[in-house]
Amino acid sequence: MMRKLLLQASALRRLSTAHSLPSLLTSSSRRCSSSSSKTTSPQPPITSLEHLDDGPSQATSKISIDRSALYNPPEHSHEHSSDSELVKHLKGIIKFRGGPISVAEYMEEVLTNPKAGFYINRDVFGTEGDFITSPEVSQMFGEMIGVWVMCLWEQMGQPSKVNLVELGPGRGTLMADLLRGTSKFKNFIESLQIHMVECSPTLQKLQHKNLKCVDEDSHNGNVDKRTISMLTGTPVSWHAALEQVPSGLPTIIIAHEFYDALPVHQFQRASRGWCEKMIDVAEDSSFRFVLSPQSTPAKLYLMERCKWAGAEEIAKLDQIEVCPKAIELTHTIAKRISSDGGGALVIDYGLDGIVSDSLQAIRKHKFVNILDNPGSADLSAYVDFASIRHSAEEASDDVIVHGPITQSQFLGSLGINFRVEALLKNCTDEQAESLRTGYWRLVGEGEAPFWEGPDDQVPIGMGTRYLVMAIVNKKQGIPVSFQ
Ligand code: SAH
Repeated sequence: MMRKLLLQASALRRLSTAHSLPSLLTSSSRRCSSSSSKTTSPQPPITSLEHLDDGPSQATSKISIDRSALYNPPEHSHEHSSDSELVKHLKGIIKFRGGPISVAEYMEEVLTNPKAGFYINRDVFGTEGDFITSPEVSQMFGEMIGVWVMCLWEQMGQPSKVNLVELGPGRGTLMADLLRGTSKFKNFIESLQIHMVECSPTLQKLQHKNLKCVDEDSHNGNVDKRTISMLTGTPVSWHAALEQVPSGLPTIIIAHEFYDALPVHQFQRASRGWCEKMIDVAEDSSFRFVLSPQSTPAKLYLMERCKWAGAEEIAKLDQIEVCPKAIELTHTIAKRISSDGGGALVIDYGLDGIVSDSLQAIRKHKFVNILDNPGSADLSAYVDFASIRHSAEEASDDVIVHGPITQSQFLGSLGINFRVEALLKNCTDEQAESLRTGYWRLVGEGEAPFWEGPDDQVPIGMGTRYLVMAIVNKKQGIPVSFQ
């Protein structure tokens, strides 16, 4: 079943450019093509779990006058010339530190190493890439997020200026669809200052292109030149982290499939208690998992996470994943929303409780071993929504957390049914099929019952696997969809 999820098909590509929510008759959809969504897989087998030793043994040969008897250590025994830059880098860290690294450090390097991280130098999305996400499935996704954002803006009293922040915007498709969908609502559009939080220079360029951005000429050496999205005339800027987005304006934050890319620590129950799972280099120069022989600094995060759980919940588990970066990010979001007003929307696959063992690697739409050729596959983990809730609530008394609810409930309450019907009234047969498939992918559960195409391309619904949570300033009231 899980395997099948990966082989499903239904990426819908844009067929027309201009459309907006009020003009429901505009026909546009994304064409169906073969691809898959990020989803769960069984954990690849752990190559070995063992105590750590003290590193490579020292050469014991004595130096004699006869030079032929000199011990010649193998040159850089852990560095194969065929290793990628990233693999060499990871092995270098392990070697020079003299011990293994945590799964979190490995994940962070693999995804966002500034030179060779998975996200850094290429477009990883879509049929040609490694996985597909909801905004790439159908324009309706970004449009529905646009409805939610606009409703929150109304609840915030229609501020004349608002920061709209997207964390990890991928290709920028969600934001482009949001802008097109809401473009007729002039007051809303004119209030927007868009901030894209993106670590990848390649994806920043792609977002710039997809938002049809132009860089305004700088007059008289003006260093503060602006970038404007020609979709709606909205100013757009890019940042490496949320902290860099200027504060002081009411803020709405969108995090779609961002949290799942944040590095997780993995712990395993052993006879001596909870041990952290680490990664080192085996004798044959491949990466392997090992267990930490003693406590690691990250154990503090495990203890913090367990504080928020009941003893029964923990007793059932032999493995636990903890994501300190998710907890810190949520803290920052909650503080920002508390001081500036507004809210955040978090959409991802995950659980409303402790996550046990979910880290997965996807390359070219197939699950692969996490340790195999790092940097060439996406790594992602289930999001622990309960820890997000606790972190937000601890950060500020001014915010309130709603959900998580399923993506299906969320999109349904925003009117995706009406949107798909309106689009279906004015489209070709091919577009209609794409729309129906995209709709199922977004809100359905399991295999689409209407599917008549090839078995290995049956659309599988993301409607209940993906969860939606809102963190809002209390003075905004309850956001739409969570009432
Ligand atoms: N939201 C998009 C893309 C999801 S993939 C979609 O749904 O299609 C994760 C995105 O987050 C990518 O754009 C990746 O480059 C970005 N990203 C991952 N880790 C990041 C980090 N630590 N800081 C900033 N951006 C990050």
